[in-house]
Amino acid sequence: MSAYTSGGGNGGGGGGGVGGEGVGGNNGGESSGSIRRLLECEHCHKHFTSRFNLQRHQLIHTGAKPYECPLCHQRFNQSGHVKTHLRTRHPTQEAQSLADLAKL
Ligand SMILES: [Zn+2]
Ligand SMILES: [Zn+2]
Repeated sequence: MSAYTSGGGNGGGGGGGVGGEGVGGNNGGESSGSIRRLLECEHCHKHFTSRFNLQRHQLIHTGAKPYECPLCHQRFNQSGHVKTHLRTRHPTQEAQSLADLAKL
């Protein structure tokens, strides 16, 4: 035993977009899952590889909108939406540069 399977792939780091699913790799071994169970969405029972991905996913259930347009303060639940919003709703040069600066 003591075969510590390092599954700690912290897959964050840019690349906007929903998703983050994909719990593959069923390493044969322990039959009683522990941590993996904690990374399950209580709403739709989807599994995630990290707590970060789980929390981000759960925003779609809770309706939280942590991102905000710097110009009109409209709120969004995904960072990419702010960028799209800036480009489409604020056709000013200021807004376009903001959209460019925002590394969303
Ligand atoms: Zn869910
Ligand atoms: Zn706006």
